Amino acid sequence: MFDVLKIRKDFPILSRKVNGKPLVYFDNAATSQTPQQVIDAIVNYYANYNANIHRGVHTLSQEATDLYEQSRLKIQAHFNAKFSHEIILTSGTTHSINLVANGFSALLKKGDEIIVSALEHHSNIVPWQMLCERTGAILKVIPMNEAGELVMETYTNLLSNKTKLVFTNHISNALGTINPIEYIIEKAHEVGAAVLIDGAQSCPHIKPDVQDLDVDFYVASAHKMCGPTGVGMLYGKEEWLKKLPPYQGGGEMIAEVSFEKTTYADLPHKFEAGTPNICGGIVFGTAIDYMNTVGFKNIAAYENELLDYATNQLKQIEGLKIYGTAKNKTSVISFNLDNIHPYDVGTILDKLGIAVRTGHHCAQPIMDFYCIPGTVRASFAFYNTKEEIDALVAGVKKAKMMLS
Ligand code: PMP
Repeated sequence: MFDVLKIRKDFPILSRKVNGKPLVYFDNAATSQTPQQVIDAIVNYYANYNANIHRGVHTLSQEATDLYEQSRLKIQAHFNAKFSHEIILTSGTTHSINLVANGFSALLKKGDEIIVSALEHHSNIVPWQMLCERTGAILKVIPMNEAGELVMETYTNLLSNKTKLVFTNHISNALGTINPIEYIIEKAHEVGAAVLIDGAQSCPHIKPDVQDLDVDFYVASAHKMCGPTGVGMLYGKEEWLKKLPPYQGGGEMIAEVSFEKTTYADLPHKFEAGTPNICGGIVFGTAIDYMNTVGFKNIAAYENELLDYATNQLKQIEGLKIYGTAKNKTSVISFNLDNIHPYDVGTILDKLGIAVRTGHHCAQPIMDFYCIPGTVRASFAFYNTKEEIDALVAGVKKAKMMLS
């Protein structure tokens, strides 16, 4: 049984006040809140296990190493990777994408083509533009329509035997659109291109099966899934991770070093130079355990209810326009009020204790498409309630009254 009031008790921050009002946290797409179970695991690590991993003979180091590697196994199981060495622990989605983009410098040549979607976060655009500058490869874009959906007919026309890589998010952070990644992957594979899926926004809502998807790379951040900031993961198929050169050089990622020649460690360590975020890596596993205990089916069903409830109410406010009306979307509502700047709406909501994000959401091409500077974005998680949505709707009405 899904009991939101019981779940909310796991999140200490949800009982604090902001500007004298109970906090209503609707900025979940930026980062999720942290349950006590994860906070306890952080404290437990520093109180009992703090040591550097992978190179100590002493007990603490071995215990910390075991916890870190057990977490990798949990992440492997969660994403259903075939091998644990296909899971690379990184500092987050941005790091994971840069790692792959850097590796492809060695695999692309001038005139090769790579395809991005119009719905991307800047972190899934800029590293690839840098890759094109380094290699002379050409970046092509799958366009979007007014509803915020990708135009698949154009996508299939863009594909050719020049296409080496396709990358798109699973879910758009700015609009909430769930992209048809199964189709995107299948079509890319027909021309022999690899696919990277940015799962930063999908992982808080659904449990991807990388083997079932047959995806080549899948990336995510722990802080979007009730874990800490500064840690994330890259799943890569073994064959691809073997082909890519290391991203950073340093300790941990080597087999042998001399001044004449260095040989690299096997996967996954080849991509994990230096002392990692050990606590973060361990606690990423705790966060995944927590979310699986709540249950991804429960999460999706409840969040869809919140999305419908909020959409129906917000739609009724005159002058309010929702951007992103895809049939298949998750619990993100991006909107504007008449000609009022999103920042002004966000500021009034903040005075009421309501946290939303305003601006371009690191997705300027989407804002350019709609010819707007930005939106107000309310993004819901499984610990939010309909009462909180009522507070948002009342707050938006108040903002409209004050600013019109
Ligand atoms: N991609 C998407 C779709 C995102 O929403 C985000 C975070 N807003 C990122 C990439 C970047 O994630 P991080 O900042 O954790 O590296």
